[in-house]
Amino acid sequence: METKFLLDSMFGSLARWLRICGYNAEYIKNIQDDEIIQKSLAEKRIILTRDKLLYKKAIKAGAHALQIEGGNDVERLSFISKKLGISLEPEQSRCPVCGGILKYTEKDFLKDRIPKMTYEHYNDFWVCDSCGKIYWKGSHWNNILKMVNEASTIRTDI
Ligand SMILES: [Zn+2]
Repeated sequence: METKFLLDSMFGSLARWLRICGYNAEYIKNIQDDEIIQKSLAEKRIILTRDKLLYKKAIKAGAHALQIEGGNDVERLSFISKKLGISLEPEQSRCPVCGGILKYTEKDFLKDRIPKMTYEHYNDFWVCDSCGKIYWKGSHWNNILKMVNEASTIRTDI
């Protein structure tokens, strides 16, 4: 079964990192604890929270939840990966911004939508089927690889 997440409002950037690793990670602001728990149960999403009270309520209600530790996103990603035994592999499969599915797209179709330099320099492009944002493995991609690699390898006793 697909591993799906529901993040509380503290973890916007963590949701983006999970999406970069291909996970269905929903992040909702301004939502009540009870609604989070209902949604988690209905959609079989794992709640990721730092809120002890929410965590306890969720477990009591029979939802799957994880109380997140770690002082930054690298540590948090590492924590989640170790606790749930999930792999961290950056891939162009989900839009970090909205969580939509990225579709590999022939660059000819995108000629008018990307900067000329980018068009000439890169061959592989992906388009979000939800918000339309275009992605390629530009210089930021190396930073992404570096950070996820770090999260995969740091010590786990946090
Ligand atoms: Zn998107």
